Order: sequence, then structure tokens, then C-alpha cells
Amino acid sequence: MNSSCIEKIPATLIPGDGIGPEVVEATVRVLDALGSPFEWDIQPAGMAGVKALGDPLPAVTIESIRQRKLALKGPLTTPVGEGFRSSNVRLREAFELFGNVRPAKSLVPGRYEDIDLVLIRENLAGFYVANEYYIQVGNDPRAVAVSSGMNTREGSERIARFAFEYAIKNGRKKITVVHKANILKALTGLFLEAARDVAKEYEGRVEMDDMIVDACAMQLVLNPWRFDMLLCTNLFGDILSDQLAGLVGGLGMAPGSNFGNDAAIFEAVHGSAPDIAGKGVANPISLMLAAAMMLAHVNLVEEAERLRVAIDQTLNIDGVQTRDLKGQASTLEFADAVCARLRT
Ligand code: ATP
Repeated sequence: MNSSCIEKIPATLIPGDGIGPEVVEATVRVLDALGSPFEWDIQPAGMAGVKALGDPLPAVTIESIRQRKLALKGPLTTPVGEGFRSSNVRLREAFELFGNVRPAKSLVPGRYEDIDLVLIRENLAGFYVANEYYIQVGNDPRAVAVSSGMNTREGSERIARFAFEYAIKNGRKKITVVHKANILKALTGLFLEAARDVAKEYEGRVEMDDMIVDACAMQLVLNPWRFDMLLCTNLFGDILSDQLAGLVGGLGMAPGSNFGNDAAIFEAVHGSAPDIAGKGVANPISLMLAAAMMLAHVNLVEEAERLRVAIDQTLNIDGVQTRDLKGQASTLEFADAVCARLRT
């Protein structure tokens, strides 16, 4: 399809905090070079939301996503203390974004070659329901800390079905369900049981096995090629997706996307990286790859592939890389190199 013929798709753009505005600017630049497929409504969230409107997830931002059902989001910092809940968790809850997809694919030579994995994380339940409290003993009001998690059969079956459908749509062959059902027998046992039930519907099409999370963490270091897709509870998915990012060159290389029935939000797996914010050195590839997922989601499959190929060529043919990959390019120099590739 000729990019100039694309009808613009309304979407919310959240620059976010820390390195967010830098990687967002770089990503918008490459999308512009692809013919500007999105019509952005720019809204604040995170610390930027607190600064602008006194709320890390302002009502206008929620309303913008509600109307457009589509967003590209920079990382958001949750203010420590002051009673703020994580804006990321609130966003997932507001739009019931139950399915988190985090692919990890080798783009640059590194410690591991030819990694091609997809992690599906349950995004709403588990320990992230954050029912936490302290119990006073004697004079110590915080002598005991208690945290409980929750998984439902319905929610576990929903994410398992989402994972199997993803496998079929994307030609994946095997799903490994990651759990700790030997210890957290109820919480993760139910998740495993639900996945096994759903797997029966896909017999002969997608294989399923399961692995205890600690063994999985070790296997991901020893032999990551044995996996195809991982299906994880919320907390285990959070941890293992950073490990997957490590297999393909670090957090700058890891895109993520969140799906609900009525909205989809695309983001980088990494956070706001305050240590490098404002220096112009952040690697924008995670968010660019998230933008490629967003293009595919709205059926601009050819544009998505062009963007992925341009990033690959910029890294491996032009040798343009950011500092985290031992290169010299700034965030925007990398973006401009990708734009040049897209224009050739
Ligand atoms: P937050 O509190 O928002 O999660 P954080 O600094 O604790 O932020 P991350 O932002 O996920 O956690 O990143 C951890 C470290 O990885 C950063 O301090 C930074 O050095 C590095 N890093 C993360 N993202 C990138 C990136 N896109 N490019 C280069 N380095 C990155």
C-alpha cells in the first residue's frame, strides 16, 4: 500500500516521563517517515500528568483513549509515597487490558543469537491486585506485612485462550505455562489448571507444556531456544520479560503491548530510566518496535514490516547504534538513520 494513501487512524500519544518524551519523539519521527499513519491526540500521564493536571492518570487522558481505543505510551513514573497507585496498573484496570504481549527477537549479535520468543503476561490479577497490609505487634505497627494475590478461573481461561489464539495467528507451535503450583498451589495452580483446560481445544494445533518459574528462569539462561511462547501469571511475567529483554540486548530492545476487548496500548517494556533521561542517549528501539506492533494491530502489516526491516538495516548494515549497544548514536540520530532507510 502506498503510505501517502493511508487514511489517518486516531490514536492517543502519551509522551510519559524520564526518557519517555525522547523515545516518543524518535518513534513519531519514524512513523512520519512511514506516511504519518496516526492522527495523534497528545495527553499527559505519570509525573507529567501530576505536573499538568495534578493526577498521574488525568481524566482527559482516559477519555482520549476511551474514544480512540488505541494508544502509544512512553514510560510512566509512579510518584513514590503520596498515595499514588501505579498509572500503568490503573490504565490496565481502566481498559481491562488483560493481555500483555512481549516479544523478544534478536536484532543484534550478542551473548545469544537467534532468539525469537513471545511472552504473554496476565495483566490484571495475581499479586498485582495488591491487597497489602501490615499487622501491629506490640508497639511496632508494621511488625508483619501481608500481601495476597488473586487469580480467577475466568481470567485465567481468558488469558490462556488469548495466548493460544495469538499462537495460531502468528504461526507459533508451543506454549509453556509458567507457574509455581508446587508452592502457590491455589493461586498459580488454578492458572495452570485453566490453561490445561483451554489447551484441549487447541490439541493438534498448538502444543502446551508447563514449567515451574525458577526452573524456567534457569532454562532461559541455559537454553532459551527450547521455548517458543511463555504464558505467565502477572508477577512472573513482569520478571521474566525483563530477562527476555536481557537475551536480546537489554531493555532498549523490548517492545510490549496491552490488549483488552475495547482498547490496545503499545509501550516499551522499560521504565523511565531517570539515570539517562534528558541526555539524548536512550535507545528508542523498544518503542519503535511497539509502534510496529501497533501498525500490525490496525492491519498496516506492510508498514509494520517496513519499520522492522529499517531498524534491522540501520543496526546491522549502517552500523548505527545507541550507547547501550556500544554504539555512538544519539536517540534522534538513530531515528534519523531509520528514517533515511525508510525513504530509500
Ligand atoms: P522506572 O522506575 O520508571 O521503572 P528504572 O530506571 O527503575 O525506571 P528502567 O527504566 O526499566 O527502570 O531501566 C533500568 C535501567 O536500564 C535504566 O536505568 C537504564 O540505564 C537502562 N535502560 C532502560 N531503558 C533504556 C533505553 N531505552 N535505552 C538505554 N538504556 C535503558
